Amino acid sequence: MAERQWLVLLGGGHAQLAVLQALARQRPAHVEAVLVTPAPRLVYSGMLPGWLAGHYTEAQCVIALAPLAAAAGVTLRQAAAIGLDAAARTVQLDDGGVLGYDVLSVNTGPVQDPSAWGTAGVPTLRPIEDWLARTTRRLAVAPPRQVVVVGGGAAGFELALAWRHRLGVAAEVAIVTGGTGLLANYPAAVRRLGVRALAERGVRCIEGAAREIASDAVVTVDGRIWAADEIVLATGTVAPRWLQGSGLALAPDGGLVTLPTLQSVSHPEVFAAGDVASRLDQPLPKSGVHAVRAGAVLAANVLGRLAGRAPVPWAAPGRTLNLLSLGERSAIAAWGPLAVQGRWVWRWKDRIDRGFMARHGTGSGPAAT
Ligand SMILES: Cc1cc2nc3c(=O)[nH]c(=O)nc-3n(C[C@H](O)[C@H](O)[C@H](O)COP(=O)(O)OP(=O)(O)OC[C@H]3O[C@@H](n4cnc5c(N)ncnc54)[C@H](O)[C@@H]3O)c2cc1C
Repeated sequence: MAERQWLVLLGGGHAQLAVLQALARQRPAHVEAVLVTPAPRLVYSGMLPGWLAGHYTEAQCVIALAPLAAAAGVTLRQAAAIGLDAAARTVQLDDGGVLGYDVLSVNTGPVQDPSAWGTAGVPTLRPIEDWLARTTRRLAVAPPRQVVVVGGGAAGFELALAWRHRLGVAAEVAIVTGGTGLLANYPAAVRRLGVRALAERGVRCIEGAAREIASDAVVTVDGRIWAADEIVLATGTVAPRWLQGSGLALAPDGGLVTLPTLQSVSHPEVFAAGDVASRLDQPLPKSGVHAVRAGAVLAANVLGRLAGRAPVPWAAPGRTLNLLSLGERSAIAAWGPLAVQGRWVWRWKDRIDRGFMARHGTGSGPAAT
């Protein structure tokens, strides 16, 4: 009989869902598995702008992890990792516990670092659970009249337009793009459509970087002050700090460096996927699409390791479809250098997102009206 082995699934992110599903299909009898997650659910960020815009209920945007863990015979531990010792093969948790592992699968996503702005209490988008709760309260009590979104990437762009749709024209909505401009990681055709979409919907596009963020204003590098009663910090994310000092090989960006097999380059019993992982051989943009796509190989290799099978490589797609919602039920599709926009693109995105949720047991009832 095979010796008992401990599998720890750290974070219930997009890729880990595939590991849970694979365990539900074929759970090796000699494996004891634990899923560590601060919340018993995963918020699907792709539908978050649609939730803010009012197209989806909260329930439609979250995946319940408890039923997936139960079906997989995995114990759910509601806690967060605060430290890792790769030599001792242990994970320290914020509830005081320490978990040992034979195989570890990390999919905790990234964090944001508001201290970069020198201001405590700047509300961040991550943890997404906290942002969702805070925004829900805000909408119920006193919807904002002056929103400033800081960060001109896809998330900031979609959220600025979602706020505009939600609040109507009586509110002011602005986006501070950062030094590299709006949708800087996208080709020119997408950027053009993006600038036009903001202008047509009355969202002020402030080209330039923010220098200071207070609770009621954003100051840009040119000294201008933008008053706000709601600030969305949609600037970039960073790797979680608890990886520092773990002994795992880390990239310059702090991410856990993996091989194409999604194994740590320094510790082959550790696997990682999603935004917490970094590839040096093939740097990938941090994106939910890549996290989802890596899931099948993560599952195959984690289970393979427990069964003594050789890992298989993951080839990230060279090009991915990006769909940017525009507040109302319209969206931009970006594929390589090509970009198109329309209501049919939103319906396409809606079908893809609901299909993903349905595969993980979240009902795909009608959109909110
Ligand atoms: C508003 C918005 C819209 C977006 N839209 C898109 C889009 O349309 N397409 C796209 O590709 N990308 C999109 N993104 C980016 C996308 O959210 C991330 O790239 C994606 O979430 C990364 O997936 P992940 O599985 O690595 O991490 P996550 O989705 O963040 O999942 C990580 C999980 O780990 C848990 N966790 C966190 N810390 C710990 C810890 N210490 N211990 C244990 N568990 C922990 C978290 O609670 C979470 O459940 C969007 C982001 C935002 C903010």
